[in-house]
Amino acid sequence: MAGGEAIASPVAAAIGLDVGGGAVKAGGVLFHADGTLVQAVGPGEVRVRHRVEADGDALSELCAVTARELFHELRSRWPQVPVLWGVSAAAWIDPGTGHSLFSPHLMGWRDRPLPQDLAQSLARLTDRPVAGGEPGRPSPQTVPLPSVVNDADAAAWAEARLTPGPGRDDGRLRSDRMVLVAIGTGIGGALVRDGAVDVGAWGMAGEYGHMTVDPSGVPCPCGNTGCWELLVSAEALATRAGRASARTAIDEALAGDADCGRAVRETGRWLGRGLATLAAVLDPSRFVIGGGVASAGELLLAPAREELGRHLPGGHYRPVPSVTVATWGNSAGWVGAAGIALERAGWSVSAAAVD
Ligand SMILES: [Zn+2]
Repeated sequence: MAGGEAIASPVAAAIGLDVGGGAVKAGGVLFHADGTLVQAVGPGEVRVRHRVEADGDALSELCAVTARELFHELRSRWPQVPVLWGVSAAAWIDPGTGHSLFSPHLMGWRDRPLPQDLAQSLARLTDRPVAGGEPGRPSPQTVPLPSVVNDADAAAWAEARLTPGPGRDDGRLRSDRMVLVAIGTGIGGALVRDGAVDVGAWGMAGEYGHMTVDPSGVPCPCGNTGCWELLVSAEALATRAGRASARTAIDEALAGDADCGRAVRETGRWLGRGLATLAAVLDPSRFVIGGGVASAGELLLAPAREELGRHLPGGHYRPVPSVTVATWGNSAGWVGAAGIALERAGWSVSAAAVD
């Protein structure tokens, strides 16, 4: 974690892990009392490739191994500072308990008590007992329960709370209503109203990727057919471009390859089509596009905006929501997970003093 020496006296720290369908990303976040500064410590970011989606125990173990390294790093640098942890997962999470209800992609984490699973995995590795009660101000002698949230909710929290708010140049705008659409293995989504993530009644809000766009389309792991994410996900883009991965397709598109460029633009149009439907339902002031596919930038967003404008109900008579790329990029999930862990432990986290 280079750069840590320059960070003066944090009062709390949190580790964030972002568990997606193919990789665990992780890092540490420091919290300061002076001005509620939150700073992500990097390049301490750890990316761990995994292919253990179907083996829940192995996935929990992998998270615990990653967390152990970061706990050790943070505690050795700032021995007096309490360290919490938060996990964001590509799963539908019970907002009260952190229990994973279902996940289309992390098959091994369906119907699992994740906070207890993860804490016990880390306890076994570190030979320390699990702390009792709610996550609070942990001691280094125990393993605190992690807070567990949906990955898109965590990313949306980071985007909404740890970046400067939008200008309110439109006098009709009564509140900031941000919709995050994170495009990776699937599509994650979240709605944030004036800084608060709306997780829904059961913790399953924002699963926009599973809106049916093509009822006669191909089957989706969620049980439906023709879901939006099947047309916009990283795999959809890679297939459309005839490349091994979305990363390759995007790199070649940005370098000027015509086939890959067409594939990205078509993906952008499908993105915009879905955004128009979301706008009809949610009336957001802005869309923020995250996840790996968002790295295509304007090549993806320009056709998405055109399509949004074309299909927005009453489009000529209403403000059109903005469409921008997420600020935190691939770090949004773990930064948000760590920030939420701090907030749930009673630290007042705000965007005010973020670099
Ligand atoms: Zn689906």
